[in-house]
Amino acid sequence: MAEDPRSQADALRSQAEALPESPGVYLFWGRSATLPLYIGKSIHLRSRVLSHLRDPDSARWVAQSLRIEHRRTPGEVGALLLEAALVKQLQPLHNQRLRRVRHLHAWRLANGADGTDRPELVDTTRVDFATTPHLHGLFASRHAAQGALRAMADEHRLCLQRLGLERAWRGSGACFRASIGRCGGVCAGGETPAAHDARLRAALAALRLLVWPHPGAVGLIERDETGWQQVHVLRHWCYLGSADTLDAARALDRSAPGFDMDSYRILSGGLLRDGAELVALA
Ligand SMILES: [Zn+2]
Repeated sequence: MAEDPRSQADALRSQAEALPESPGVYLFWGRSATLPLYIGKSIHLRSRVLSHLRDPDSARWVAQSLRIEHRRTPGEVGALLLEAALVKQLQPLHNQRLRRVRHLHAWRLANGADGTDRPELVDTTRVDFATTPHLHGLFASRHAAQGALRAMADEHRLCLQRLGLERAWRGSGACFRASIGRCGGVCAGGETPAAHDARLRAALAALRLLVWPHPGAVGLIERDETGWQQVHVLRHWCYLGSADTLDAARALDRSAPGFDMDSYRILSGGLLRDGAELVALA
């Protein structure tokens, strides 16, 4: 590779201009053959990569780049899934990523009618988040989950004692927050438990996690305007890879490697409904 920075930039620009203007994922490589500098996705590969070459925010890693690799996908879904999988697998130097979260947490609150339910804190080491109903999240830590529930309590005048976040006073009188109007008073008979819990459920509803809606793996078929198709293999909100044929897709099916937050976020937003072409693989 050329050492002269200007000819290096010219070589990079030539590579970018040769990219297809189609959906896919791009990888910027520097000297390392195993650790990319940056991974991104676009439905317009060439324009997106060329915009990096002009973008001051990208200048630092563009200057170190020697080679641009690309992988085409038929559409945006494949690009989103492949980008998330490659970023996780290759850990590029310059992608802004959240700290790797080992265990995810969620509040489990069943729709019990007996009035004794408490939100229960569960995590991915004990509970399969893809198949367990009544979960609300996602939280990166126990601390974050409790903080979110406390904020919800303040906003909706919920009782920390009833939520299990604070121990009841001896004699089970009103909690301190009831005396300053921040608890609706369920702890002292000021409202019924049912009224309190209805506010809790309404507040948690926005965080409800979707249970994987299929008995097993499904193939999500994506086509481009030329008729080229890929089958994206999905199980328990995990992306297991893509194949050109259904037979090859079935060969990719395996048990999900664990709850994956990135692919959950990509897939739970309605991609599997709304006319998506799905084929059961199991
Ligand atoms: Zn209270």
